[in-house]
Amino acid sequence: MLMVDFAYTDEQLALQKKARVFTHEYILPYASYYDKTGEFPLPIIRKAWDAGLMNLAIPKEYGGPELGLVEACIVVEEFASGCAGMTTSIFANQLGPEPIMIAGSPEQKEKYLRPLTEAPKLVSFACSEPGMGSDVAGIKTAVEKDGDEYVINGSKFWITNAPYADYFTVFASLDPSKRHKALCAFIVDADAPGVKIGRPVEKMGHRASSTASIMFRDARVPAENLLGSEGEGFKIAMKTFALTRPAIAAFATGLARSAMEYAREYTMKRDAFGSKLREFQAIQFKLAEMLMKVETSRLLYLRAAWAADTTPDATIPASIAKAFATDAAMWCASEALQIHGGYGYIDQYPLEKIFRDAKLYQIYEGTSEIQRLILGRYVLDGYQPARETPPRWAGQKAPDF
Ligand SMILES: Cc1cc2nc3c(=O)[nH]c(=O)nc-3n(C[C@H](O)[C@H](O)[C@H](O)COP(=O)(O)OP(=O)(O)OC[C@H]3O[C@@H](n4cnc5c(N)ncnc54)[C@H](O)[C@@H]3O)c2cc1C
Repeated sequence: MLMVDFAYTDEQLALQKKARVFTHEYILPYASYYDKTGEFPLPIIRKAWDAGLMNLAIPKEYGGPELGLVEACIVVEEFASGCAGMTTSIFANQLGPEPIMIAGSPEQKEKYLRPLTEAPKLVSFACSEPGMGSDVAGIKTAVEKDGDEYVINGSKFWITNAPYADYFTVFASLDPSKRHKALCAFIVDADAPGVKIGRPVEKMGHRASSTASIMFRDARVPAENLLGSEGEGFKIAMKTFALTRPAIAAFATGLARSAMEYAREYTMKRDAFGSKLREFQAIQFKLAEMLMKVETSRLLYLRAAWAADTTPDATIPASIAKAFATDAAMWCASEALQIHGGYGYIDQYPLEKIFRDAKLYQIYEGTSEIQRLILGRYVLDGYQPARETPPRWAGQKAPDF
């Protein structure tokens, strides 16, 4: 029996439809407004929460719907087809609490996951710093134990939703010289003493998401807010990325799909050299390439999300999906803009926004280079070759049978 099924279940189809209708009613009509103003889309986030389209992974015992990553990715593709920035704001709530889902005690889950299901609260994942992003083991934010508290000193940078979050999952080091061995993960309340949030930074794209720094100056955190045990922070961060990178691939797929659809519509309207653009084979080839990239990206994110839902370690399929789909989205955005000619470059059409938004996918949650670093090391040290020994190649003889 072939154990592969490419069809969505009825429940998944219904969820996709719900997310698509939500996107058309509440995301697309306001995407340009939030992009231009850079305002934080709180009304849209509240609507997504009301519709039950946020916090999808929270287990039933803490009041959540306990959906798999496959389902979250299906929703994310729809949202991102409407506005990448709003999707980043909404789905930061998948990233932020993930360390708690991975390593939290039942008490921590009860205290910090349940409230997300009772009100539209936001959570941030605070790992990156002004001096590091890719090199997670190089975290400099310092933590030391003081009685039944931990004291944190240092700064985090580029933290999505930080100005609006109720709490953060924060990574800090007991001894930066020990790199990954000394990392710890904590839950830190936004109003804890010694915590200060910076002003949101101006960004090229994803302008409907809020990105800011967090400063810790002798910030005191109860010892019970340590996630897992001391030294487990690096492992928790890596596990988190393996669970969230498939969703970034799904974001990218939604954006690429949208770019393709805008390009398709434009080729039917625009005349050049006495024909519609759609008549030119060079244009058709670009559309064909976009479709190939969108479909491949979707297969890859579904495969990675399936691996995250059903196997102990999805790191490799997650990196493949993230690297491929985000590069594909950047290419589709660029070519869809090109098909629009000068109109692609101005704000009467959505392509210039889509182009700006696409770039971030290659940067956050591990850059395209970091995904290739993971995959390259895997090919060399983890991959099991199908062929055990190299074949004799030079000087092969004719078969004697
Ligand atoms: C809008 C936005 C939102 C973000 N949200 C969050 C968030 O919510 N939480 C959070 O913790 N972080 C967040 N980030 C941070 C983001 O994850 C980092 O920017 C990203 O991981 C890259 O780190 P960096 O910027 O320090 O680049 P660096 O690590 O300094 O890398 C610079 C360049 O060098 C390349 N490079 C680095 N090391 C290698 C290597 N070994 N081999 C080859 N190339 C390499 C990188 O790929 C990159 O091209 C966000 C960033 C942005 C822009």
